[in-house]
Amino acid sequence: MRSPAELTEAFRAHGLKITPQRQLLFRLMHGNECHPTAEALFQTASEQMPGISLRTVYQTLNDLATMGELRSLDLGTGAVRFDPNTDDHHHVVCDHCNEIRDVYVSGSDALSISGLDGFAVSNTSILFNGLCPRCTAVSE
Ligand SMILES: [Zn+2]
Ligand SMILES: [Zn+2]
Repeated sequence: MRSPAELTEAFRAHGLKITPQRQLLFRLMHGNECHPTAEALFQTASEQMPGISLRTVYQTLNDLATMGELRSLDLGTGAVRFDPNTDDHHHVVCDHCNEIRDVYVSGSDALSISGLDGFAVSNTSILFNGLCPRCTAVSE
């Protein structure tokens, strides 16, 4: 995802409206490693700019996803997550607290895969599940 200033320019170039609310969302998402849901982002944004609407949050996230600035992910946690990291990466999810981390897999081309016959694969996502270090420590 590009910087808030670059996104402001890009939105203008696409004929999309720029408002202080949208610029706040650019700042909150830029470099965000939490993979927030729209609702979580709405909570954070509301603290800084009371009166911002959930609709604006959804609209802005969808516009950013359409422009390829972020990815929307279903990681099995019950709500769609938004990720400004558009590098080729995968995820690990804590089954207990739903913490999500980015995971980089090297050598995935060398995986031995069967059952894809006839499919033109456009995307691969690998999801790891388990307990995060914090939850592991608590359960010991
Ligand atoms: Zn955890
Ligand atoms: Zn990610």
